[in-house]
Amino acid sequence: MSEGVRKGQKSTAARAATTYGAKAYAAASASSPLAGATIRRREPGPTDVQIEILFCGICHSDLHTVRNEWSGFMPTTYPCVPGHEIVGRVTEAGSAATRFKPGDVVGVGCVVDSDHSCRNCRDGLEQFCPGATYTYNSPDRHLGGVTFGGYSESIVVDESFVLRVPGNLDLAGAAPLLCAGITTYSPIRRWGDIKGRKVGVVGLGGLGHMGVKFARAFGARVVVFTTSPAKKADALRLGAHEVILSSDPEEMKAHAGTFDFILDTISADHDINAYINMLGRDGNITLVGAPEKPLGVAAFALLFGRKSVSGSLIGGIRETQEMLDFCGEHGITADVEVIPIRRVNEAYERMLRSDVKYRFSIDMASLKAE
Ligand SMILES: [Zn+2]
Ligand SMILES: [Zn+2]
Repeated sequence: MSEGVRKGQKSTAARAATTYGAKAYAAASASSPLAGATIRRREPGPTDVQIEILFCGICHSDLHTVRNEWSGFMPTTYPCVPGHEIVGRVTEAGSAATRFKPGDVVGVGCVVDSDHSCRNCRDGLEQFCPGATYTYNSPDRHLGGVTFGGYSESIVVDESFVLRVPGNLDLAGAAPLLCAGITTYSPIRRWGDIKGRKVGVVGLGGLGHMGVKFARAFGARVVVFTTSPAKKADALRLGAHEVILSSDPEEMKAHAGTFDFILDTISADHDINAYINMLGRDGNITLVGAPEKPLGVAAFALLFGRKSVSGSLIGGIRETQEMLDFCGEHGITADVEVIPIRRVNEAYERMLRSDVKYRFSIDMASLKAE
């Protein structure tokens, strides 16, 4: 579809936007718990699909946004409806929508629109588009105000930002693939062919457990770094070949200089140099967590061995679809604890204590009974 046609349709849709009420869970302020609310969604425009949401994963970003903890660069507008790990079923497709039809099982991740024209969009990296519309707490170009996420009974999204979910996947476990899945899949893929290579995963939470599954499926020798001996058995069950207790200097020393690639999923303060020392020549460590304070990287640790530190942020639409298809082929989903939506506030507290294996997935059928 040409830019002109697409833009034309968008402005027509914007002018004509009528809305309907949808049940949701929203936070009224940074200090309020999430509670039942009714929000306005646009009626599907020509290229939109309307999706009945079946499951929505709970991401740490949801909690940060609800509590306005990223006020410095992304202040929260209230009411706030979080949720960007969405799996559902298409209930209606716009007159010009060609990719989906009612009944299709689909996913929506962190981005629901972009300018379709910048270099990042042309390269299929919509997550870096300066005009990207994020799934929640992002200016809504159709209705004004901000976008509302997946803690809701339905959502309306331009079909070019809707993903196809393979039919063999458990839907509760598939929801977290839309953020935790692509966040870990993308940097592993970008690194190159990791078959037979030694790959480390730092941290075994929502992101780390997906990193282990993907690295294993790509044929790497997978080693998990953890501070918790209690996680060892689980790491092996998830696919790791080996587990290193990062608090044990002897264990760390024995593996120094032997890794090709390390995926660092820790969002708390930690000593990154300890992991840079684990890398061999030309090794890379990629950060997907975002510690609040800057990490002190020792230059010498990088210089000797020509090592590099990188960051990575979710993935583009094309790559997200590739990831979902890969998960379909390999039977990969997140390990989830399914909860009704009324337990979402309690789930946030448990997530802060890392008391979840390894992601909460909200069964949205529970919202109907609210
Ligand atoms: Zn997320
Ligand atoms: Zn763009």
